[in-house]
This record gives sequence, C-alpha cells and structure tokens, in this order.
Amino acid sequence: MRPRQPREHPPSRRRELHDDAPPVRFVRHPAHEPARRQPVHPLDRAAVPQLGPLREPPDRRRRPRRHAAHGEEELAGYEVHAAWRVTPAGAYPRRRGVRDSLHLPDDPMGDATAASHLLGREGLAHLLRALRDDGYRLVGPTVRDGAIVHAEIGGLEDLPAGWTETQEAGTYRLARRADAALFGYAVGPQSWKPFFYVPRRRLFRTRRTDDGFTVEADDAPPPKLALVGARSCDLHAIEVQDRTFLRGPFVDPDYAARRQDLFVVAVHCGQAGGTCFCVSMQTGPRATFGFDLALTELVDAPHRFVVEVGSERGRALLERVPTEPASAADRARAEAVVAATARSMGRTMDTRDIKALLYRNPEHPRWDDVASRCLACTNCTLVCPTCFCGTVEDVSDLAGETAERWRRWDSCFTLGHSYLHGGSVRGTVRSRYRQWLTHKLASWIDQFGTSGCVGCGRCITWCPVGIDITEEVAAIRAADGATATA
Ligand code: SF4
Ligand code: SF4
Repeated sequence: MRPRQPREHPPSRRRELHDDAPPVRFVRHPAHEPARRQPVHPLDRAAVPQLGPLREPPDRRRRPRRHAAHGEEELAGYEVHAAWRVTPAGAYPRRRGVRDSLHLPDDPMGDATAASHLLGREGLAHLLRALRDDGYRLVGPTVRDGAIVHAEIGGLEDLPAGWTETQEAGTYRLARRADAALFGYAVGPQSWKPFFYVPRRRLFRTRRTDDGFTVEADDAPPPKLALVGARSCDLHAIEVQDRTFLRGPFVDPDYAARRQDLFVVAVHCGQAGGTCFCVSMQTGPRATFGFDLALTELVDAPHRFVVEVGSERGRALLERVPTEPASAADRARAEAVVAATARSMGRTMDTRDIKALLYRNPEHPRWDDVASRCLACTNCTLVCPTCFCGTVEDVSDLAGETAERWRRWDSCFTLGHSYLHGGSVRGTVRSRYRQWLTHKLASWIDQFGTSGCVGCGRCITWCPVGIDITEEVAAIRAADGATATA
C-alpha cells in the first residue's frame, strides 16, 4: 500500500488548522515533574559518571573569574556588537562559563591559561597517537568533496593543513592559506551532531518465525570518540542537544551511549567565518567548558599550540606527551588571537528582548517576504547543530519475512513534520519558517532555558538562496509591531 502523502490545503482550510495561531506554550504534565524523574545531567559526573566531559574545567571551578561589571567600560577593548557588551536581564539566561570569555585587554590571560603548556606540531601528532593508543576513534576536520568536514582521521596528516574557507550567505569556498595552519578555518558544513544523533539509524528488526516473530534490537556498542578541533559554538550546541536527549523526561539511550567516554580536544578560534556570530550569542570564540584539552594555534614560526587543561583526563594525557610550559609571551599571543577573532565576526545579532520581540510579531510582513524566497529545502535544519527533529519509518521486505523500524532526521520545513489527522498544521512556507526561527530564538528559551542558536552561521552559509537569520531578525526589529495587510 502506498504511504499517504501530506497535502496542501486551500488558504481557508489552513486558517482552520491554526496555521497562524500564536506560539503555544507547553505545560509539563504533572507526571513529568522534575521531582518524579531521574534527571540525567551530563555536566555532573557524580550523577552520570560515564558521561563526560561537558563540564567546567576544574581550574575554573576552584577560582571563578570575577569582573567588576558587564558594561561598556569593562569591554572597551572589544569593538563588538552592543548586545554582547551588555545583555539586558531577561533577554535569555547567561550561558555557563560565559564570563570567562570576557577577558580584558589589560588582563589578557584570565585564569584559564595560568597553567598552560606549549606543544609543537610533533607534540600534537604524539598526542593524537596517544589517544588512538587509548582506544579512541579520532574524528576531526579533513578536506573532502570541496569542504572541510568532520570525519574519522588517522592523525595529524589528515588535518586540513594550509586550508581555509570563505563563507557568505549561500556561499562556501575552500581557499589556500599562506601558512600551514591545521585549524585555520571557522566551521564546515557539519557540526558534531551526526556523531551523537545519527542521521539514520535502525531501531529494531522483526523476523517472521514458524510460531510468530522475533525482535532484534540494534544495540551494538558505539565507538569511543575523541573530537579533535571542536569549536566553542559547537561545544555549546552539544550542551543544547544534551538538554533534549539526556536531560528531558526521557533519555535517548543511543545518544547517551555515543556521548559517554567522549574526549574533547577543543580549539579556540583563530579566525571567524563570514557568517559567524558567536559573540552575539555569547558562545565563543573562546571555549570555556566542555573540553579535556583546548588549543590555541600560533602559526608564526615555530608553529606551536598553547594548551589549556580542562579535565583530569586531559591532564593525564598531556603528561604522556612532550610539552614545555607556555611562556608569558606565548600566552599573551594566544589571548590576542582569540580577541582578534572576537572582533572580526562576520555577522552580529541584536538579542535584546528577542523572545518578546518574536512573540509579539507573529503577523509581521517579513514572514511573507522570507517565505517568497525560502525553498523549504530543509538545509538550514540539517546543518544546524542544535536542531533535533526526527521521525520514524517502518520498512518491510517484499517477501514479508522481516520488518524494520528506522529513525531518521526530520525537519520542521517539511509538510509531513506537522501532519496531523486531516492535514499539515503548518501548511505554508511562511508558517514553517516562522516556526523555525521563533522556536530557535524564542520558544526554545521557554522549553530549555537557553537559546536554540549558538551563532555558528551554518544555516546562512548553506541556505541555497542565502536567507540570513541575522538579517531576518534585524528586519523584524526594524519594523517591530508591523502587521501584515494581505
Ligand atoms: S531558509 Fe534556506 S536552507 Fe532553510 S529551508 Fe528555506 S531555503 Fe532551505
Ligand atoms: S540557527 Fe543557524 S546560526 Fe544558529 S545554531 Fe543553527 S545553524 Fe547555527
């Protein structure tokens, strides 16, 4: 039998289906009250010792950094977006560790680099070999199909030495650098999402037998992963996805299994992409949590890396690698690299009062404008490191001997995603784009206590028609309160 296809409805019917209803606030069922659940918090090793290491580095926990105020004066050395300088109370909760990213020009080290080490190129190769010897599967950046993608790597030789990229709305191009930097790019099309929330996965298979059927679960243990070159925005995105898959009413066992025993070698960004806006979203460019080791790459001769320790595991690994203490000059140079990246964001987004802004503009004419350009191709949701929608499909063989249930990524841009009895709730591209953007930047805050956007810019770069989330928000803000007349 052919599966039933979702169908478009005439405009009058769409209205009946609440196409343009204001955002719905979901209320937790009493059975799911926090006190009745077993919360699984991946940042808490005591609660879930097998999960890690997304947590504050121990050094920072012992000696939290204090700044006098988050005002203009404090950040006078940074020419960055106003929303980053002063985040109004209530815009959305400040992210963990964000204060540590606000290092001042006159205090360039902060506390995080107090005990940093220096690693040469050979030392980094040694470190990657040590991780492999410990049974980790290395995944990191490598050049493939005209892009820098995350894939399994053998070692240093597979990293994108001397490569960078240019990114703009709807544009991505690889380019050669003048040096041999290993991490001299911003972010590629992939985040780390596919390694934890896999795009397509068989949940189980049933097989006909003489007296009924058997069910075979697909629960092969996943490999132990070491992420090489994780950026701060992507570490924030992992934390956001953890809220969905680990810290909600239900724990996703496959996601939890893939997340456990993770080793993270982070890289503080030395270059911002043309579509990056992590500074506006307070998620970078300095990694402030969630890593075992964090590198700052210094490309002036000799090519070297300033290394920060973020966990005891990271410290233990580093002890097996030839390093030397980082000099004050090297630490200052590393800090300057990150500060320069913060000043060169390709995009900014004014996040002041953004939740209320979007909630009070469900009829803004900009939704029609963007709908006239959007192809509903789903690219933006597939490249987004925080999007988590999925669907399940059942397939059977022609002989009727086996049937399988698969889970695969879905997108709120498809008609089928909101298909209920009688049709799709969001029958227009206007309503689907509005749902995506409003969820990402507003209702996500109600749902998870954080923004759903980490400012990686992927949705801008990989949108085939160059729709830019920062531009859409700015347009709504510029004509706040405007109402569609059509
Ligand atoms: S915004 Fe761009 S990437 Fe997203 S669905 Fe529309 S056309 Fe595709
Ligand atoms: S909405 Fe766009 S910029 Fe924000 S996290 Fe997703 S892909 Fe990155």
